[in-house]
Amino acid sequence: MLTPDRLDRFARHIVLPEIGGTGQVRLASSSVMLIGAGGVGSPALQYLAAAGIGRITVADCDDVDASNLQRQTIFNQADIAASKAERAADWVRRFDPAINVVPRNVRIDADNAAGLIAGHDLVLDGSDNFATRLAVSDACVASRVPLTTVAVGRFQGQVANFAGHLPDQACYRCWVGDAFDAEDCDTCADQGVLGAFVGMASTLGVMQALRVLLDGVADLGDPQWGKLLLLDGLKPAMRTIAVAKDPTCRACGG
Ligand SMILES: [Zn+2]
Repeated sequence: MLTPDRLDRFARHIVLPEIGGTGQVRLASSSVMLIGAGGVGSPALQYLAAAGIGRITVADCDDVDASNLQRQTIFNQADIAASKAERAADWVRRFDPAINVVPRNVRIDADNAAGLIAGHDLVLDGSDNFATRLAVSDACVASRVPLTTVAVGRFQGQVANFAGHLPDQACYRCWVGDAFDAEDCDTCADQGVLGAFVGMASTLGVMQALRVLLDGVADLGDPQWGKLLLLDGLKPAMRTIAVAKDPTCRACGG
């Protein structure tokens, strides 16, 4: 049940038929692991917290840099050189003390991903390189945790929900294949990134994550597994691709 304070706080959700009181209770009892508190992770964290997710773990091994402030909206001048994970958790505590937030100042890799992800209802991956995204995806498949992935390169964005642990559903590796495990080949330091566009992809990712969390209890709850949303920030435009399960995928196939 929601207390009167929480009913007030989430009144605009609760009047939406697509969420309602039942949906809000579900969000309050949900736990989300956010990978990366960067250009994707910062606005995602704000909207996950604003949506009333009850427990949020935020993992990032970097410190805040001045060049982050152009898009990483939870940080300010005074945060420069501080741990992103710690300052992200501080932001959540100031925003809503009712949220149980856990900072993880670690680099996610294939060895630790499954342990960090365990116990969460959903992982939202906003990391900035293929190696991490593939390690996170593989761990989600192994741990049977749904994954919302958000990736941005210049003015192209990709957002999708994956449930590779289910028999007929693709995982992120089914989409990108095995070519990128070893290299950090798409970091925004090389490419550049526009803050408002990465924020757009990020908040779309939160929308898709909410569909997963509300599955079975509210009308918004269609997880749209394997439906890849491709954003073109310049036009702007969006198209969708259905990602099929690869029977030879080394994470989820066979
Ligand atoms: Zn797969």
